[in-house]
Amino acid sequence: MKKLKIVLTPEWGEFQQMETVNAMQVEEWYEPAEAAPAFCFPDIAFGGRCPFPEWDELQMEDAVGQLPYEIRPIPTLDDNMTFRGVFPERTAEGAIHVRYRIFPRILPEGYRRSPCFDFRAEPNGLNGTGLFSLILPYSEDEKEKMETVLSWDLSGLPEGSRAIFSLGESFCGGIGFRGNYTRKDLADTMFAVGRMQAFEKDGLGVYWFLDPPFDIRGIAEKILPIFRYEKNYFEDSSAEFRVFLRRDPFTPSGAGSACPYAFISTYSALDTPEDFAGDEEKWIDVFIHEMTHTWPAMEDQTTGDGTWFCEGATEYYCTMIPYWGGFASAEETSRKIHRKIVEDYLENPYREMPNREIPKIQWQDLRAQHVPYGRGMLYIARTEAKLREEGKGSILEIVKKHSITNPMTRQEWKDFIFEKLGQEGLEDYQHMEEGRIPTFEKDLFGPEIRID
Ligand SMILES: [Zn+2]
Repeated sequence: MKKLKIVLTPEWGEFQQMETVNAMQVEEWYEPAEAAPAFCFPDIAFGGRCPFPEWDELQMEDAVGQLPYEIRPIPTLDDNMTFRGVFPERTAEGAIHVRYRIFPRILPEGYRRSPCFDFRAEPNGLNGTGLFSLILPYSEDEKEKMETVLSWDLSGLPEGSRAIFSLGESFCGGIGFRGNYTRKDLADTMFAVGRMQAFEKDGLGVYWFLDPPFDIRGIAEKILPIFRYEKNYFEDSSAEFRVFLRRDPFTPSGAGSACPYAFISTYSALDTPEDFAGDEEKWIDVFIHEMTHTWPAMEDQTTGDGTWFCEGATEYYCTMIPYWGGFASAEETSRKIHRKIVEDYLENPYREMPNREIPKIQWQDLRAQHVPYGRGMLYIARTEAKLREEGKGSILEIVKKHSITNPMTRQEWKDFIFEKLGQEGLEDYQHMEEGRIPTFEKDLFGPEIRID
């Protein structure tokens, strides 16, 4: 197995009149690097909404000395973005040592919410993702794992600073991890570094810098029993989940982006506690939605194939689990279901667009993005009701065999449905994929729940 060592060295100073992490040096040692390109990184992502950070001093060396390189486009490794490769201009001897410094994003004029995977600073620290900060080793085989050690050097930060990564077992005092990971595993990570505050209990971690305009500890306390209930429900007692708060300098804020076992959630620095007062319920809902993604998962290599399940089953569980666990009333749950199924899906102008068509337009018209959520949720609820009615068990049987790092395939779902509900079940699934609007019973979500 190839070896990859990464050392992250954040620097402290002024950035846009804030005292914070204002740059980060990334150093990597990788061997043996036979592939061309040796490294890769995303370029234009999510319709240009999320850039790789500005950098300087990309240096490459090997046992011989300086290793000249060229950067040029490569076939994409993800539907949502283009990729570039770093091509050494001669054969490398021994480990390649890469070094570069990246800088927090300066937001463009009029910038508003978009995916939160970018490298962004705020007073006291910054957060970001592996995908948009690390140039990672390229492999022809995306399933190839590397023996990885990642560590932080926090010597340049004020005393008491911390660094938290979403991945792996902690070591060296909790500021790094080691394990065998693919390029994608390392890309799909989130981290925060700086002078941070934290709520950490039973595997649930919430991290923030300045105090947000809401009682984050109180909210975390409310979510903790739901997290415990979910771990129990999905039979995954060792699950961990981390949330990184991000302070946006604009309003409205309130976006979120997720990676396995973590998400970044944004709030506006301009909001007062009064502004936020009506949003607490919404914020908690987003938190639970992202946390619930840990379990129901389907491969979505061709975007659209698994979105209906990843989002729809997550919507189903994050709405129903708080109700089943006694944390949300029937009335509140009915209200949420009405919004998710009726407003966001059945009244959506794209409600009849097939699953595979939606990704083609969803960054031009954001309304289309809601369709797989409501469509998948309704289909899951109908399927669950049918299984129960026919005494055929529950979809939990297949859901709990998988997780966000071990998603089921579309074929596995089809096989499961065929085995349980036969040809009729399979046809119902195909109709959902094609975008047909189903009929459903009013008591689909339970006798106390109303869908008006
Ligand atoms: Zn989601």
